[in-house]
Amino acid sequence: MAPNPTADIFRDILHERARQEHLQAKGRFKYTCADPRMAVGDKALALGEEFGEVCQAVLEEADLSYDKHPTMSVRKELVQIAAVAVAWIESIDKAANQPWEDLVADGGLPESQEPD
Ligand SMILES: [Mg+2]
Repeated sequence: MAPNPTADIFRDILHERARQEHLQAKGRFKYTCADPRMAVGDKALALGEEFGEVCQAVLEEADLSYDKHPTMSVRKELVQIAAVAVAWIESIDKAANQPWEDLVADGGLPESQEPD
């Protein structure tokens, strides 16, 4: 079978998505971006935080000149940003295919989305 670098990257993103859900299940955070109950602003902040970590890795560990390759820490952060984006897309798809009442049936609404 011919090498498929793109498939390898998608496998890494799938692994990172699973890691995110594992951390949420362990209580590290209340939601992942895959949960339609997470406020959209919080999802944007999570994605922006990951982008910031890409930039931080570039500044700390990658030489910005063209004759140097980015480090594996930059790659790791890019996989994480892709996984967060995938999670957000999952949330959009879940919300499109399920009534809101069913989505919030267990666990209730996050504070930022509770009705006044
Ligand atoms: Mg990160």
